[in-house]
Amino acid sequence: MLIAEVFHSIQGEGRFAGVPSVFVRTSGCNLRCRWCDTPYTSWEPEGEERSVDSLLSKVRGFDCEHVVVTGGEPLLIPDVVPLTRQLAADGHFVTIETAGTADQPVSAALMSISPKLANSTPVGTNWEDRHDQRRHRPEVIRRLIHKYDYQFKFVIDAPGDVTEVEEYLSEFPEADSRRVYLMPQAIEPGPLQEKAAWLKDAAASHGWKLSPRLHVELFGNTRGT
Ligand code: SF4
Repeated sequence: MLIAEVFHSIQGEGRFAGVPSVFVRTSGCNLRCRWCDTPYTSWEPEGEERSVDSLLSKVRGFDCEHVVVTGGEPLLIPDVVPLTRQLAADGHFVTIETAGTADQPVSAALMSISPKLANSTPVGTNWEDRHDQRRHRPEVIRRLIHKYDYQFKFVIDAPGDVTEVEEYLSEFPEADSRRVYLMPQAIEPGPLQEKAAWLKDAAASHGWKLSPRLHVELFGNTRGT
Protein backbone atom coordinates (compact mmCIF):
# COMPACT_ATOMS: atom_id res chain seq x y z
CA MET A 1 0.00 0.00 0.00
CA LEU A 2 1.12 3.56 -0.62
CA ILE A 3 2.40 5.08 2.63
CA ALA A 4 3.26 8.76 2.95
CA GLU A 5 4.97 8.52 6.34
CA VAL A 6 5.31 6.60 9.60
CA PHE A 7 6.35 8.60 12.64
CA HIS A 8 6.07 8.91 16.41
CA SER A 9 4.48 12.01 17.90
CA ILE A 10 1.56 12.92 20.13
CA GLN A 11 -2.07 12.74 19.10
CA GLY A 12 -3.08 16.34 18.48
CA GLU A 13 -6.87 16.10 18.32
CA GLY A 14 -9.95 14.63 19.94
CA ARG A 15 -10.38 12.24 22.87
CA PHE A 16 -6.73 11.19 23.05
CA ALA A 17 -5.12 14.59 22.48
CA GLY A 18 -1.69 14.56 24.09
CA VAL A 19 -1.28 10.76 24.04
CA PRO A 20 2.01 9.50 22.53
CA SER A 21 1.16 7.67 19.32
CA VAL A 22 2.68 6.17 16.21
CA PHE A 23 1.10 7.51 13.03
CA VAL A 24 0.84 5.41 9.89
CA ARG A 25 -0.24 7.76 7.16
CA THR A 26 -1.63 6.21 4.00
CA SER A 27 -1.52 8.18 0.77
CA GLY A 28 -4.49 8.64 -1.55
CA CYS A 29 -7.92 10.14 -0.95
CA ASN A 30 -11.30 10.18 -2.69
CA LEU A 31 -11.86 13.82 -1.62
CA ARG A 32 -9.98 17.07 -2.23
CA CYS A 33 -10.72 19.39 0.66
CA ARG A 34 -10.03 23.03 -0.06
CA TRP A 35 -8.01 23.38 3.14
CA CYS A 36 -6.51 19.86 3.26
CA ASP A 37 -3.58 19.91 5.70
CA THR A 38 -1.95 16.84 4.11
CA PRO A 39 -2.06 17.66 0.38
CA TYR A 40 0.78 15.16 -0.15
CA THR A 41 -1.85 12.44 0.47
CA SER A 42 -4.65 13.96 -1.60
CA TRP A 43 -4.01 16.71 -4.14
CA GLU A 44 -0.55 15.40 -4.95
CA PRO A 45 -0.35 11.95 -3.39
CA GLU A 46 3.16 10.73 -2.71
CA GLY A 47 4.84 8.01 -0.70
CA GLU A 48 6.31 4.55 -1.08
CA GLU A 49 4.81 1.12 -1.49
CA ARG A 50 5.08 -0.76 1.81
CA SER A 51 3.98 -4.27 2.76
CA VAL A 52 1.88 -4.98 5.84
CA ASP A 53 4.82 -6.89 7.36
CA SER A 54 7.24 -4.02 6.87
CA LEU A 55 4.81 -1.60 8.51
CA LEU A 56 4.25 -3.93 11.46
CA SER A 57 7.99 -4.21 11.91
CA LYS A 58 8.41 -0.44 11.79
CA VAL A 59 5.61 0.15 14.33
CA ARG A 60 7.03 -2.45 16.73
CA GLY A 61 10.29 -0.51 16.77
CA PHE A 62 8.60 2.46 18.49
CA ASP A 63 7.32 0.43 21.49
CA CYS A 64 4.18 2.60 21.70
CA GLU A 65 0.67 1.40 22.67
CA HIS A 66 -1.36 3.84 20.58
CA VAL A 67 -1.26 3.56 16.79
CA VAL A 68 -3.18 5.96 14.58
CA VAL A 69 -3.87 4.86 11.02
CA THR A 70 -4.61 8.03 9.13
CA GLY A 71 -4.42 9.50 5.66
CA GLY A 72 -5.42 10.47 3.10
CA GLU A 73 -8.33 8.07 3.45
CA PRO A 74 -7.15 4.78 4.99
CA LEU A 75 -10.52 3.08 4.57
CA LEU A 76 -10.04 3.00 0.80
CA ILE A 77 -7.12 0.59 1.15
CA PRO A 78 -7.76 -3.18 1.48
CA ASP A 79 -4.38 -3.83 3.16
CA VAL A 80 -5.46 -1.65 6.07
CA VAL A 81 -7.65 -4.59 7.17
CA PRO A 82 -4.82 -7.08 7.88
CA LEU A 83 -2.65 -4.24 9.17
CA THR A 84 -5.15 -3.12 11.82
CA ARG A 85 -6.09 -6.67 12.78
CA GLN A 86 -2.48 -7.59 13.46
CA LEU A 87 -1.82 -4.32 15.31
CA ALA A 88 -4.79 -5.06 17.57
CA ALA A 89 -3.61 -8.66 18.04
CA ASP A 90 -0.21 -7.27 19.08
CA GLY A 91 -1.96 -5.32 21.85
CA HIS A 92 -2.05 -1.86 20.28
CA PHE A 93 -4.86 0.62 20.75
CA VAL A 94 -5.73 1.36 17.13
CA THR A 95 -7.41 4.58 16.07
CA ILE A 96 -8.57 5.00 12.49
CA GLU A 97 -8.93 8.56 11.20
CA THR A 98 -11.43 8.73 8.35
CA ALA A 99 -13.73 11.16 6.58
CA GLY A 100 -16.46 8.51 6.82
CA THR A 101 -17.06 7.98 3.12
CA ALA A 102 -15.70 4.42 2.86
CA ASP A 103 -15.80 1.28 4.96
CA GLN A 104 -13.59 -1.76 5.47
CA PRO A 105 -13.79 -4.54 8.09
CA VAL A 106 -10.88 -3.10 10.07
CA SER A 107 -10.04 -3.64 13.72
CA ALA A 108 -10.30 -0.30 15.51
CA ALA A 109 -10.60 0.62 19.18
CA LEU A 110 -11.65 4.11 18.10
CA MET A 111 -13.15 5.21 14.79
CA SER A 112 -12.37 8.90 14.53
CA ILE A 113 -14.73 10.31 11.93
CA SER A 114 -14.20 13.75 10.42
CA PRO A 115 -17.16 14.41 8.10
CA LYS A 116 -16.49 17.10 5.54
CA LEU A 117 -18.82 20.10 5.58
CA ALA A 118 -19.55 22.48 2.70
CA ASN A 119 -16.55 24.58 3.75
CA SER A 120 -14.28 21.81 2.45
CA THR A 121 -15.46 22.02 -1.16
CA PRO A 122 -12.69 23.13 -3.54
CA VAL A 123 -14.85 25.65 -5.38
CA GLY A 124 -13.61 26.52 -8.87
CA THR A 125 -11.40 23.45 -9.29
CA ASN A 126 -12.02 20.37 -11.41
CA TRP A 127 -12.63 18.43 -8.17
CA GLU A 128 -15.58 20.56 -7.04
CA ASP A 129 -18.39 18.28 -8.27
CA ARG A 130 -16.71 14.96 -7.38
CA HIS A 131 -15.86 16.22 -3.92
CA ASP A 132 -19.40 17.41 -3.23
CA GLN A 133 -20.96 14.18 -4.50
CA ARG A 134 -18.68 12.03 -2.35
CA ARG A 135 -18.25 13.89 0.91
CA HIS A 136 -21.53 12.83 2.56
CA ARG A 137 -22.29 9.11 2.86
CA PRO A 138 -24.86 8.74 5.68
CA GLU A 139 -25.17 4.97 5.22
CA VAL A 140 -21.42 4.60 5.82
CA ILE A 141 -21.54 6.85 8.89
CA ARG A 142 -24.37 4.76 10.36
CA ARG A 143 -22.41 1.55 9.89
CA LEU A 144 -19.29 3.02 11.46
CA ILE A 145 -20.97 4.42 14.56
CA HIS A 146 -22.91 1.22 15.17
CA LYS A 147 -19.89 -1.01 14.77
CA TYR A 148 -17.14 0.92 16.58
CA ASP A 149 -16.48 3.19 19.50
CA TYR A 150 -16.32 6.52 17.71
CA GLN A 151 -15.83 10.25 17.84
CA PHE A 152 -16.88 12.95 15.40
CA LYS A 153 -14.47 15.78 14.64
CA PHE A 154 -15.79 18.70 12.60
CA VAL A 155 -13.51 21.33 11.11
CA ILE A 156 -15.13 24.75 11.62
CA ASP A 157 -14.12 27.72 9.52
CA ALA A 158 -16.90 30.24 10.25
CA PRO A 159 -19.83 30.52 12.72
CA GLY A 160 -22.31 29.34 10.06
CA ASP A 161 -20.55 25.96 10.01
CA VAL A 162 -21.88 25.28 13.51
CA THR A 163 -25.44 25.36 12.14
CA GLU A 164 -24.38 22.89 9.46
CA VAL A 165 -23.04 20.55 12.16
CA GLU A 166 -26.44 20.73 13.92
CA GLU A 167 -28.18 19.83 10.66
CA TYR A 168 -25.67 17.08 9.94
CA LEU A 169 -26.08 15.45 13.36
CA SER A 170 -29.88 15.63 13.14
CA GLU A 171 -29.54 12.86 10.54
CA PHE A 172 -27.99 10.65 13.21
CA PRO A 173 -30.15 10.95 16.33
CA GLU A 174 -28.35 7.92 17.76
CA ALA A 175 -25.03 9.82 17.84
CA ASP A 176 -23.81 10.71 21.33
CA SER A 177 -23.24 14.48 21.61
CA ARG A 178 -20.46 13.85 24.17
CA ARG A 179 -18.42 12.30 21.37
CA VAL A 180 -18.61 15.38 19.14
CA TYR A 181 -15.59 17.67 18.81
CA LEU A 182 -15.29 20.97 16.98
CA MET A 183 -11.88 22.01 15.68
CA PRO A 184 -10.88 25.41 14.28
CA GLN A 185 -9.87 25.37 10.62
CA ALA A 186 -6.33 26.73 10.76
CA ILE A 187 -2.81 25.64 9.99
CA GLU A 188 -1.09 28.40 11.97
CA PRO A 189 -1.23 29.06 15.74
CA GLY A 190 -2.59 32.66 15.49
CA PRO A 191 -5.75 31.95 13.46
CA LEU A 192 -6.20 28.75 15.45
CA GLN A 193 -6.41 30.62 18.77
CA GLU A 194 -8.64 33.30 17.26
CA LYS A 195 -11.20 30.76 16.05
CA ALA A 196 -10.94 28.62 19.19
CA ALA A 197 -11.98 31.65 21.27
CA TRP A 198 -15.50 31.83 19.79
CA LEU A 199 -15.79 28.13 19.03
CA LYS A 200 -15.39 27.13 22.67
CA ASP A 201 -18.74 28.66 23.67
CA ALA A 202 -20.49 27.38 20.54
CA ALA A 203 -19.34 23.83 21.34
CA ALA A 204 -20.31 24.05 25.02
CA SER A 205 -23.79 25.36 24.25
CA HIS A 206 -24.50 22.16 22.29
CA GLY A 207 -22.91 19.74 24.76
CA TRP A 208 -20.00 19.21 22.35
CA LYS A 209 -16.30 19.67 23.02
CA LEU A 210 -13.65 21.94 21.58
CA SER A 211 -10.73 19.90 20.30
CA PRO A 212 -7.20 21.26 20.37
CA ARG A 213 -4.98 20.90 17.31
CA LEU A 214 -1.73 20.34 19.14
CA HIS A 215 0.26 19.57 16.01
CA VAL A 216 -0.53 23.12 14.83
CA GLU A 217 0.02 24.74 18.25
CA LEU A 218 3.27 22.93 18.99
CA PHE A 219 4.78 22.22 15.61
CA GLY A 220 3.11 24.67 13.18
CA ASN A 221 1.63 21.80 11.16
CA THR A 222 5.08 20.61 10.12
CA ARG A 223 5.00 17.34 8.22
CA GLY A 224 5.85 14.24 10.27
CA THR A 225 4.98 15.79 13.64
S1 SF4 B 1 -10.47 13.92 3.46
FE1 SF4 B 1 -8.63 14.45 4.65
S2 SF4 B 1 -6.87 13.82 3.36
FE2 SF4 B 1 -8.71 13.83 2.04
S3 SF4 B 1 -8.64 15.86 1.08
FE3 SF4 B 1 -9.94 16.02 2.93
S4 SF4 B 1 -8.57 16.70 4.59
FE4 SF4 B 1 -7.27 15.95 2.87
